[in-house]
Amino acid sequence: MLILPEALIADLVTPDAAMEAVADCFRAMSDGKARNFPVVREALGEGRQYGFKSGLDLAGAQMGVKAGGYFPGNAAKGIINHQSSVFLFDPETGRPVAMVGGNLLTALRTAAASALSIDRLARDDARVLGIVGAGHQAAFQLRAAARVRRFERVIGWNYHPEMLPQLAAVAAELGLPFEAVDLPGMRQADVIVTITSSPAASLMADHVAPGTHLACMGTDTKGKQEVETALLAQTRLFTDEVAQSVTIGEAQHAVAAGLVSAGAITPLGDVLTGRHPGRKSAKEITLFDGTGVGLQDIAVAARAVAAAQARGLGIEVAV
Ligand code: NAD
Repeated sequence: MLILPEALIADLVTPDAAMEAVADCFRAMSDGKARNFPVVREALGEGRQYGFKSGLDLAGAQMGVKAGGYFPGNAAKGIINHQSSVFLFDPETGRPVAMVGGNLLTALRTAAASALSIDRLARDDARVLGIVGAGHQAAFQLRAAARVRRFERVIGWNYHPEMLPQLAAVAAELGLPFEAVDLPGMRQADVIVTITSSPAASLMADHVAPGTHLACMGTDTKGKQEVETALLAQTRLFTDEVAQSVTIGEAQHAVAAGLVSAGAITPLGDVLTGRHPGRKSAKEITLFDGTGVGLQDIAVAARAVAAAQARGLGIEVAV
């Protein structure tokens, strides 16, 4: 079994490799060759969450589980709030193959999913990127989005405005002007990424202009919400996995309110495989409900393992 500590990951998986890996697993899901197992997610109290995301990809011969969660007190201790590890197993024998640090991989695979949705669903002429959120994931989201469209400026809003300079610094690193806006100011954006741990909607339907693509990436648990429920009923909806979207994703509230049905939500894999055309007009609002599936974690961890094996990196242990 190969152990890949967190510190090795940055050198093993590039953002491009993460995008390829996530696209491969979304395609395998659309082809019926890969499936996610039911998510276990438990509240530990004081905002802490812990759980397991797992799956089997027969196309990629990958099986595994990500164990981890969200620990909001960590930032004060100098460590990131999201903590996770990915375990890979041989799908034929069940033998353990690898244990891989999952923190950077989570950020890379989440940003990769969002960027894939922007690549396939945003208008080609999208020039203004809006970000709602300014925590750890937001920087990865901004960098990944900038890889798939020629944005000319970035606008940002965050519930804790004192965090926005961190996002502005990432925009500066990309050579993009940044402006902090109020929520109605988000109407200037052609693409909006939401990436917060909000328990209630911030972004309302009248904060979003026609033709916008929304990548809603923060809601990955029952009870979280980033955008107004009514907005979902006005958009063409896409997701990584419909079962997660309607239970733990942004769509959970619209489905519970009877405004949206599971049948109206298209897996992004269907767009990648050509089964669904994606955006149908320049005027419609598209929304990707990125809930984060176990297969994404397995796919990027497998990339890390392959790269490490090719370079003789990591720690081999007998099991
Ligand atoms: P973080 O703790 O670093 O940042 C939290 C963000 O949420 C900040 O922008 C903060 O200002 C905002 N926020 C906190 N309380 C809020 C409130 N009451 N109302 C509105 N905004 C509030 O977290 P992070 O690592 O950047 O993760 C952000 C979210 O993304 C979390 O909910 C996390 O669980 C989720 N996430 C989703 C996926 C996925 O695959 N979909 C993957 C990783 C993380």
